[in-house]
Parts: sequence; C-alpha cells; structure tokens
Amino acid sequence: MTQQNGFQVTVYDKEQHIGGRTWKWTMVVHWGLPTLRDMLPAEVFYALKYAHANPFYAYSDDKPETATIKGGMCTGIGYTLGKKVTDIRVEDSKEEETGRPGPVTIAFEGGEVATADLMIGADGSSSRVRRWLVGEEAGKSLLSEYMIGSGIVKYGTAEQAKKLLEPSELCAVATGPTANNVVDPEDKTTYSFQVVRIWHGTEEGRDGKEAIARMKEVTASDMFQEPFYSAIHAIPQASDPIFTRQLTYWPTVSWDNRRGSVTLAGDAVHSMLPNRGRGLNHALADVMQLVKQLVRVKVKGISVQEALEFMTNKKLSESTQAKRGLAR
Ligand SMILES: Cc1cc2nc3c(=O)[nH]c(=O)nc-3n(C[C@H](O)[C@H](O)[C@H](O)COP(=O)(O)OP(=O)(O)OC[C@H]3O[C@@H](n4cnc5c(N)ncnc54)[C@H](O)[C@@H]3O)c2cc1C
Repeated sequence: MTQQNGFQVTVYDKEQHIGGRTWKWTMVVHWGLPTLRDMLPAEVFYALKYAHANPFYAYSDDKPETATIKGGMCTGIGYTLGKKVTDIRVEDSKEEETGRPGPVTIAFEGGEVATADLMIGADGSSSRVRRWLVGEEAGKSLLSEYMIGSGIVKYGTAEQAKKLLEPSELCAVATGPTANNVVDPEDKTTYSFQVVRIWHGTEEGRDGKEAIARMKEVTASDMFQEPFYSAIHAIPQASDPIFTRQLTYWPTVSWDNRRGSVTLAGDAVHSMLPNRGRGLNHALADVMQLVKQLVRVKVKGISVQEALEFMTNKKLSESTQAKRGLAR
C-alpha cells in the first residue's frame, strides 16, 4: 500500500532475524482481515496461506490464524534487522525549503544513524519512540492487575492433541480444528499448541519450569473443565519458552508530532490487554489510516502535521472508549 502510493519506506527492527523473538504466540486476524486484504498486494495477501499455523487445514479467507506473517509482509520494502533505536533528533535544516522541520535523525545502538522525513514508532508496548515523544514518565507502561502465562506447547501425545482439536462447546477461539504448528497431519504427537492462561493477580514473572508450575497452581480442577484443565496440567516440563508476566497497558495520551516529523502506530500508541485479541487488528487499522492521511497530504495539500493530528485525535477517542470499559 505504501509503495502503491509512492511512499518509500524502510523498516528498522532491533530483532536480529525474522522470527527471532524468544516469546511467541499466535495472532488471530479477525475484523482486521478486510484491512489486511486492502493494504497488501494480492500476491502477498494470498501468500499468507503459507504462514497459516496448520498448512494442511483447508484455508478460508475468514479464518487465517497466522503464526509467522512477517516474512510475507516484508516483500518489496526495505527491512533492516539488528537496528535498535536509542535516540531521535529532529533537525531544522530543511525548514525554510519544506515549511516543516526535518529530516529526522534516528540513532541506533552501536552508533549508526539513518535519516527520514517521517518516523513512525511502531516499536511495541514499551515503545522507545513513545517515551521520547511524551517523556519517560508519561510514556511508561502501566501495570495491570492481571497475570499472563503463555507459551507454545508440544504435548507429545496424540490423546492430548485430539482432546484440544475437538470443537469446544464453551469457546470457539481457544480450541478448534487446528493447532499452532503441524508438521505431519497424520501424526498428532507432532502438533504444538498456543496455550494462554490469564488470572487476577500481581506477582513476579517466572520462566520455564517455574512458570509452568505456577500456571498449574492457578488452574484448579474445580474451576476448569476439559479440555482447558489438561491444556495446562499436561504441559510437559521441557516445553519451549514459557513465561508468566504481569500484563501492562498504556492509556493513550496526546503527543506532539514535532510539526509532522514523528508519530506512533500499533501497540506503541494503544498497548492493551490481550484478552480479546485485538492489538494486531488495531495495528492494521493504524497503518491503513496513516497511509490514507498521508495520501491526503499529497492530494489535498494539507500539512503532514494536520494529517498526523487527525490520527492522534482518533486514537485518543478510541482510548477514551477503552477507559470506559467498552474495549478492554
Ligand atoms: C498472548 C498474546 C496473544 C495475542 N493475540 C492476539 C490476537 O489473536 N489478535 C490480535 O489482534 N492481537 C493479539 N495480541 C496482541 C498483539 O500481539 C499486538 O497487539 C501486536 O503484536 C502489536 O504489534 P506492533 O507491531 O505494534 O508491536 P510488536 O509486535 O511488539 O512489534 C514491535 C517491533 O518493534 C521492535 N522494536 C522494539 N523496540 C525497538 C527499538 N528500540 N528499536 C528497533 N526496534 C524495536 C521489536 O523487535 C518488534 O519487532 C496478542 C498478544 C499476546 C501477548
């Protein structure tokens, strides 16, 4: 979408390689699917089929549970890995010529720098760019009263896999006819699943065996029916990285976009609890809205500052809804 509209985009990410995160989870694209379809070139959109968690499961447009879509998304744009943003500077050198400050100088760990006309901080819930824009204190994530335990689990038994593959009468998202990763569709011992347990509490985060033990402790038999009880209690000790952490969020406040030079998108601007699986869907809507606004700059001649302020106001009104409990 950015290319179609003539914008040159470079993505800088601190990750060393795609898929390099220790903590992984599946993400369901539900109401964001039409947005995703509109923003991607057709061949990239249809290639998402190959990022489907279970490539053997009949894919339909309204059920794309994807695990690793980043590779496909990066087709055709500059994607530079291993670049951790440490500082930002907005120069005034071109102001006379362009009528606004810029370029933006982005400093990376290790001393390298890059420049851009507009910097979009889409650097997640603890966003460095957000803290630069609104200040360390105001930009800090807040601790919620909820804990999350999460990980990708391979149970190693066909019996447990079958239990989780059965459609549930209680919840159509938590269990369904697919798994997180399927290597051999005939051999259910190879299936792995995304397991998430959220509970009320504030405590230290744990990793590995300790995290598994804590998730089992907070999942008592009198509260949980099958398949949810064994989804937690059958987790083997040696599972892939599993963690428990206190969930955080950031109640959006307005930011000064430095006369159209720096803005935010995704979790950086609306970090929310993951209980309804909406964060990525909102992030997709941000991208669509941002490109639409930048096109208005080209076509209608409004200033970048005005276009970005429109985005900020929209985010603030959504955040007010969230504070009223409509979206959290
Ligand atoms: C268990 C769980 C399940 C979820 N399920 C769903 C779901 O089903 N559907 C849904 O819509 N949402 C879901 N979410 C929420 C979703 O994961 C987030 O909303 C989404 O990942 C936000 O995308 P983002 O690009 O804004 O941020 P991120 O995905 O956090 O990406 C930020 C990127 O910025 C990079 N970065 C960070 N700091 C720097 C820096 N200083 N310099 C350079 N790069 C940096 C990181 O390496 C990363 O690649 C879930 C969340 C959790 C925890």
